[in-house]
Amino acid sequence: MINRAIELIRKSTRPVIFTGAGMSRESGMRTFRGEDGLWKQYSPEQLSSISGLRSAPEVVWNWYRMRLMTGEGVVPHAGYKALTYLQSKKGKLPVITQNVDGLHRLAGQTDVLEIHGSMRTASCLDECGFSTELTSGILKNLPPFCPDCGAILRPDIVLFGELLPQKIISKSYELAEDCDLMIVIGTSVQVWPAAGIPFAALENGAVIIEINPVQTELPRSDHVISIRRKAGEILPLLVGLEEKT
Ligand code: NAD
Ligand code: ZN
Repeated sequence: MINRAIELIRKSTRPVIFTGAGMSRESGMRTFRGEDGLWKQYSPEQLSSISGLRSAPEVVWNWYRMRLMTGEGVVPHAGYKALTYLQSKKGKLPVITQNVDGLHRLAGQTDVLEIHGSMRTASCLDECGFSTELTSGILKNLPPFCPDCGAILRPDIVLFGELLPQKIISKSYELAEDCDLMIVIGTSVQVWPAAGIPFAALENGAVIIEINPVQTELPRSDHVISIRRKAGEILPLLVGLEEKT
């Protein structure tokens, strides 16, 4: 199976990457679902919504500060480096990610579509146009306020009840409808509409190589090669950075 995957990656002319929280697990970022998932402790509606942000901004911002701090010093693991290498080898390799941790860019990848936004920046909740990098200075007193109009700041991620960035979603579906291979890494394929992206690739006749230690919502089919391993372990081997032993 691994040999088939290596061959498919080598031959593919229009590959696309699609990642979720599991891609960052080995860099130390926790996933939401699964064994040690974050949602076992916190309610998503409270922590990740505009209404939560308006009614309890301090609680919500404390949670983001905690997540950002867990993200501090987090560096892309060997699997990220393997994707950067593959991107340079292929010339064109778009990366669609559900992650908000910015690790694909930090690993030096370009052409990254962050469909759920990024937690590394924040902007004015009242949309006056102010936007900033989230530095420790800004996170010192919570909640942080907009220096231009005094409203609360919001993290630049898609919150519950919000629409996804339409242009980025359309571009992602275009890529899915045109690719010959999609490498789907570390996602439970449960969060819609993002989860529709690998299904669009399958419908267009593309092959999927899935990397995830556990079974997901993707169907069992000749077009889905599921490698039940961790991203950091298997990706270097799949792209030819490591020899198969
Ligand atoms: P999810 O939490 O629903 O699922 C994570 C998947 O990763 C699971 O299927 C798990 O088996 C798999 N996994 C765990 N360790 C892995 C490893 N080492 N290698 C490969 N796979 C591994 O994640 P999701 O599907 O991305 O959906 C969750 C939503 O939460 C996303 O929308 C995302 O925006 C957000 N989120 C982002 C981050 C982040 O930015 N790092 C972290 C948590 C959640
Ligand atoms: Zn403002």
